[in-house]
Amino acid sequence: MADASPLVVDAHTHAFPPEWVADRTRHCTRDRWFGELYETPSAKMIDARELIGAMDAAGVAQAVVCGWPWADPSLCQEHNDYLADACAASAGRLAWLGVVSPAAPGAAAETERCLTHGAAGIGELNADAQGFDVANPHVLADVASVLTGAGRPLLLHASEPVGHRYPGKGTATPDRLVDFLTVYPDLTVVLAHWGGGLPFYELVPEIAAVIHNTVYDTAASTYLYRPGVFRTVLDLVGPHRVLWGSDHPVLGMGKFLDRTRRMGGIRSDERDLVMAGNARRVYRLHDTVPNGDHMGLSE
Ligand SMILES: [Zn+2]
Repeated sequence: MADASPLVVDAHTHAFPPEWVADRTRHCTRDRWFGELYETPSAKMIDARELIGAMDAAGVAQAVVCGWPWADPSLCQEHNDYLADACAASAGRLAWLGVVSPAAPGAAAETERCLTHGAAGIGELNADAQGFDVANPHVLADVASVLTGAGRPLLLHASEPVGHRYPGKGTATPDRLVDFLTVYPDLTVVLAHWGGGLPFYELVPEIAAVIHNTVYDTAASTYLYRPGVFRTVLDLVGPHRVLWGSDHPVLGMGKFLDRTRRMGGIRSDERDLVMAGNARRVYRLHDTVPNGDHMGLSE
């Protein structure tokens, strides 16, 4: 992609409270899934200040930041409080997604609390990390109803049913995700990591028919797919349904941005949508981040 427009929104990043970054061991014992991924000191954790530093270095104007899919609702609440404060203090650089634990009581109330405190949506939820069955239509019913009523999206972790194994791969595969999407046609769902390959099944007419409000983000793309995934998925689902996201700091934002920009075969209108416009529409960043105007982000 030619670098004609400097405006880039990273639609998928993660940040933690600085005290949690400093003492990850305590959380490795508090949450099984977190422990599996972060017991190794080489797994990167950053706080929101470091995230903004990475955005400055990469030339990213704005980022959507997630916490972590905690199973314990009290950890979700603590993380949400941190992200709300960090984003409010970010002068429009960050928008946040609230995290809730769908299998635990109070997920819908916490969803409402997050939206009241300015969350752009809920996510990145992870069925395996949080112990819920994504194919069970009831487990997310209350959360989905709050989000649909508010016109806010849900970001779900998605996994490929094939390919190499890696920590955190999980079981939220396209077949199970379709069961979920079928029950909630009015909910805007962002499927992370290219939807675990679901875009390829949109060639099946009955699958395309149930995917009304689904978009895909590119998080961790270089870890999972060859660069041709961009052109292929754009041809399959169109330019309005792909959000550029890095999964920073799991995969470096600057490096992924460079690789994306070097990619050929993407038209400038597609690039503008994928790199910023789609994220701004889906996460309603003009509502969520009022200070974005001074960065030329107003629509
Ligand atoms: Zn992620």
